[in-house]
Amino acid sequence: MKTARFPLITSITPTICRLMEVELPKQASSDALGSVISAAQRVLNDSRVERFLVYAPDAIGLRLYQDYRDFFQPVLGWAPVEVRLLSMTPTKTPVCFASMFTGALPKAHGITRPIRPVLTCDTLFDALTRSGRRVAIVAVKGSSIDLIFRGRPLDYFSESYDDAVTSKVLKLIESNRHEFILAYHQEYDDVMHRTEPRSPEALGALRNHIKSFDTLAQAVEAHWQCHSRAVLFAPDHGAHLDPSTGRGTHGEAIFDDLEVVHFFGFHRSKGTHS
Ligand SMILES: [Zn+2]
Repeated sequence: MKTARFPLITSITPTICRLMEVELPKQASSDALGSVISAAQRVLNDSRVERFLVYAPDAIGLRLYQDYRDFFQPVLGWAPVEVRLLSMTPTKTPVCFASMFTGALPKAHGITRPIRPVLTCDTLFDALTRSGRRVAIVAVKGSSIDLIFRGRPLDYFSESYDDAVTSKVLKLIESNRHEFILAYHQEYDDVMHRTEPRSPEALGALRNHIKSFDTLAQAVEAHWQCHSRAVLFAPDHGAHLDPSTGRGTHGEAIFDDLEVVHFFGFHRSKGTHS
């Protein structure tokens, strides 16, 4: 099968844990991504990542990157370490993000269909906070990421929509009080469900996500420069055109929905710690 060479999206949690030198959450079942670890070691001279920003836009699949590669130049500028991954089935947002941030398959974490309970199993955020890292999750109110990781000793921010998420994350980066920030945006997913995956409106939303990542990565560079730092562009799944409705959708075990690409970027500390 063409996708067999891709690691699973569950690899993200062990990779982040290795980079930040944090013990794995209990159900994590994948290995860290070797190419990413090597790239980080080259840039950071083997020191651990002290500050991490993860930007998680909804439903941006590998196909968009393959067909609109020029759009992604700002992402590649900040985060040139590209890794292609296979998401979880069903390719629904809570299933995929639960696997991405626990390192566990859906059967192990319990979200096997599009339901959004608070996860009871161990997560990346539990692992980070156990190791004393301060974590913030900033998401659109009522989204999967806003709901399923609740109940942990970390800072949650529920915002009205993507722009408000960006504003909050910019403030958090500037205040430099968290070691790990997760930001979630959903405009592309909303628009492609209303229209189709490559409608002018959906492509406009894709460009908005890339612009947001660029803005956030610039803030990381400006305010976290005294720390070794990482940025990650990390969508949950892809999307396809449903011929029966003429609109965009996802949820199937097909390449368009399953294949995603994540981008990591590493930057060395430029001075002494403040
Ligand atoms: Zn969706």
